[in-house]
Amino acid sequence: MNPDVTRQIAALRQTVAGLHRELTRYNLVAWTSGNVSARVPGQDLLVIKPSGVDYDDLTADTMVLCDLNGVVVDGGGSPSSDTAAHAYVYRAMPEVGGVVHTHSGYATAWAARGEAIPCWLTAQADEFGGEIPIGPFALIGGDDIGKGIVSTLAGHRSPAVLMRNHGVFTVGKDARAAVKAAVMCEDVARTAHLARALGQPLPIAPADIDSLYDRYQNVYGQRPASG
Ligand SMILES: [Zn+2]
Repeated sequence: MNPDVTRQIAALRQTVAGLHRELTRYNLVAWTSGNVSARVPGQDLLVIKPSGVDYDDLTADTMVLCDLNGVVVDGGGSPSSDTAAHAYVYRAMPEVGGVVHTHSGYATAWAARGEAIPCWLTAQADEFGGEIPIGPFALIGGDDIGKGIVSTLAGHRSPAVLMRNHGVFTVGKDARAAVKAAVMCEDVARTAHLARALGQPLPIAPADIDSLYDRYQNVYGQRPASG
C-alpha cells in the first residue's frame, strides 16, 4: 500500500478510536453498543470499531479496516456487527465520510413508537433542517438497514435517521461531524420529549426553518447546504 494511504489509515484509526469516547461522554451508549466509522478518503475502505470490545479497551490498534463490502482488510478482531450497514451507506452516499450508530435513550424512544421528531426547536432547524425522520424496521445482517438509512435520508436534510424499533444512525462529511449529529439528535429528542410531556409544543413555520438551516450551514460550514 502507498505510504501516504498507510499514514492516512493510521491517523483515522486514532481518530475513530478517540471519537468512541465522545459516545460514552455524552451517555449515548450502554455496554458495547454503538459504533463509529470513517471512510478512508479516496479509497474503497473504512475504519470501524471491533465487535464486542469494552469501550475502555478501544485503541487505534483494535480498530478494524474493511473494504466497502464490509470484508476485513486489516485487523485482529471481527468488525462491528453493524459494518454491513455502514458499508452500504458509504457505497450509496459518496459525500459521506463518517457514520455513527447508537441506541441513545430519548431518540430511540421516538424510534420505538415509529414517530419522527417534529421540528419544535431552532437548534433542530439549524442542525437537521426539519424533522428527524423515521426509517423502516429492518433486521441486522444483510443490506436492509443500509437501504433503509439511505432511502430515508434521501428525502430529508437531516443527517440523522431513527430506524424504527432500533435506534439512531447519523452521517457526516467526516466521522466527527457524524458524532456531533448523534449528540445533537439525542439532545433534541430529549427536549422534544420533555416539551410534549408538558403540553403541545409550538410548530416553527417552514420558511423560518429554511432560514435557520441556511444561516447555520453557511455560518458554520459543517456540511454542504444540500446535505
Ligand atoms: Zn443497533
